[in-house]
Amino acid sequence: MGDTLFTKIINKEIPADIVYEDELCFAIKDIKPQAPVHLLLISRKPLDRLSNATPEDQALLGHMLLAVGKITRQLKIDDAFRLTVNNGAQAGQSVFHLHMHILAGRPLRWPPG
Ligand code: 5GP
Repeated sequence: MGDTLFTKIINKEIPADIVYEDELCFAIKDIKPQAPVHLLLISRKPLDRLSNATPEDQALLGHMLLAVGKITRQLKIDDAFRLTVNNGAQAGQSVFHLHMHILAGRPLRWPPG
């Protein structure tokens, strides 16, 4: 897989507002927020999409979900947030590097569009 936008952010070639980082993933503020809090939790490993994860990625995926808990508790949004993974262009994925959207700070409708 070639460089993605998020690889460039990891390599500091593109600036981003980093709110969390550890050895496997990091979180930034989305450049075009869809809610008062809109973060992207991004894997350092450039996996193109969730559906291409393999058993080798089990620890990474579990780690990222636990990081969501940690980040949302830190930001005091753990009572109400939405976690979204857009998988594939038809589902709204525009950056093909695994990431989870964390949205909070306003009522979130269901079903999503
Ligand atoms: P996707 O559409 O792949 O699920 O999510 C990609 C997200 O990346 C979008 O919500 C978009 O607003 C965000 N994004 C695109 N370019 C940049 C950028 O340069 N910086 C940041 N922080 N977010 C970006």
